[in-house]
Amino acid sequence: MGKVIGIDLGTTNSVVAVFEGGEAKTIINQQGHNITPSIVAFSDDGNIVGQIAKNQSITDPTNVIFSIKRLIGRRYFDNQVQSIISSLPFHVSNDELGKIFVETDYGTFSPQEVSAEILRFIKKAAENYLGEIVSEAVITIPAYFDENQREATKEAGELAGLNVKRIINEPTAAALAYGLKSNKREHVIVYDFGGGTFDISVLEIFDDFYEVKSTSGDTFLGGDDFNERIAKWLLDDFRREYGIDLTLIPEALRRIKLESEEAKKTLSTTYEYNINLPFINCDSSGNIPHTIDSGDAAQKVLHINKRLTRKKLEEMTEDLIDRTIGPCQQALNDAGLEIRDIDTVILVGGQTRMPLVQEKVKNFFGKEPSQCVNPDEIVAVGAAIQASVLKNEIRNVTIADITALSLGIETEGGQYTKIIEKNTKIPWVSEKEFTTIVDNQEVVEISVYQGEALEVKDNIKLGNFILEGITLAPAGVPRINVEYCLDENGILTVSARDVDTGVEKKVTISNRVV
Ligand code: AMP
Repeated sequence: MGKVIGIDLGTTNSVVAVFEGGEAKTIINQQGHNITPSIVAFSDDGNIVGQIAKNQSITDPTNVIFSIKRLIGRRYFDNQVQSIISSLPFHVSNDELGKIFVETDYGTFSPQEVSAEILRFIKKAAENYLGEIVSEAVITIPAYFDENQREATKEAGELAGLNVKRIINEPTAAALAYGLKSNKREHVIVYDFGGGTFDISVLEIFDDFYEVKSTSGDTFLGGDDFNERIAKWLLDDFRREYGIDLTLIPEALRRIKLESEEAKKTLSTTYEYNINLPFINCDSSGNIPHTIDSGDAAQKVLHINKRLTRKKLEEMTEDLIDRTIGPCQQALNDAGLEIRDIDTVILVGGQTRMPLVQEKVKNFFGKEPSQCVNPDEIVAVGAAIQASVLKNEIRNVTIADITALSLGIETEGGQYTKIIEKNTKIPWVSEKEFTTIVDNQEVVEISVYQGEALEVKDNIKLGNFILEGITLAPAGVPRINVEYCLDENGILTVSARDVDTGVEKKVTISNRVV
């Protein structure tokens, strides 16, 4: 049996690791780096992934897809999706069911297909390194991913030719990587601020036992939002000064976004950064596009040259960091712990390199975060450890994970009845009995939702199915048993059974958009 690789499929970057010679190591990719930008360029030369695709995004922004993790497993009309698509240089479309696609000159692709390209590239890197075909993987996802996002990620792995042995939550993977270095009983916080998502988890680690106590987060808050703030500042300023909307030039917009990220990253170690973008109102052929060919300023070649200080960046983005504190408090409450009970805080994800993030985390938890892990690699390392646990290469490690979101059913009047509460240990099975609401009702529709709101309209719909052949009886008499079974990947199977007739229907809630 070959190796099982561990993959951190990130919004911005992806990393692959493998357990070898008693330790998990990250693998260098075909481009010589152990971090692969999660970017796919569709081109005449075929599909390109990673740093080379990133470079191409300036000259051909409409055919280069990035941050696909923000769209995977979501519906087109979700508020969060709507809030970002206008700022993306590539075209995002939908079908009549609300499924998302990205449109390029080389075809239309689902987020799963784009993610599969990244995974294929990563699989190849692992094969080159190991000198053997790789067909199995553990893939990490934010703990706060819902069922649709989990299933869609699994599907991406399968499209890439990988049997996804386990989907594991990123914070759990991080704790696993950290825990192998620690041998005390500890309450550990994993504060994971990546490119597109924020996750917070509280774990208890004792010997080889890892128990996730609670988790919280925001799947639409990440480093990308910091870049957007800087980009907006530059765009607004340019519009004010020259009356030109640079968002109309995809090349300019992409350059501004990349430079904004560069400025942000550099300001983690310096206090000032010069943003230099010459010929910003020109397209890739060096011409001023017709779309902005109005007014005097539009006739001239223009440049952006601005100084950004760390202080200004902090002013522009402090509220984004503050948005992480609510989930931190929530996770502590859900775990039944106080700040003083926390022994260690681990920072994961590139955005935690920002000094103000570190300062706010330190202030909230009242302790210096641990410096003993590499925030970019720890999740992939944890995934590789989980892979080796599945292969029995490491024994005795027990991971007790939980579901981050409650699961329930639609009941009369659009109400939401929870069947599995959030922060329940997985795998888990729960059942509840329901009945009919009209006399001689022959069918019931089971509509499955995920979330915490009281009404289904405010939660995420995961799917629905019909149970036929109910005993004909007055309303309230038939007994319909609904069972929710959550597996160790956090993937749900729902079954409904008429207790009297024994008629049963069972469905795995897969990535259907309803
Ligand atoms: P990840 O998803 O963990 O790869 O995190 C990627 C995010 O971290 C992106 O938004 C990056 O811009 C951000 N990032 C990476 N390095 C730094 C840094 N030195 N300072 C601030 N943010 C960073």
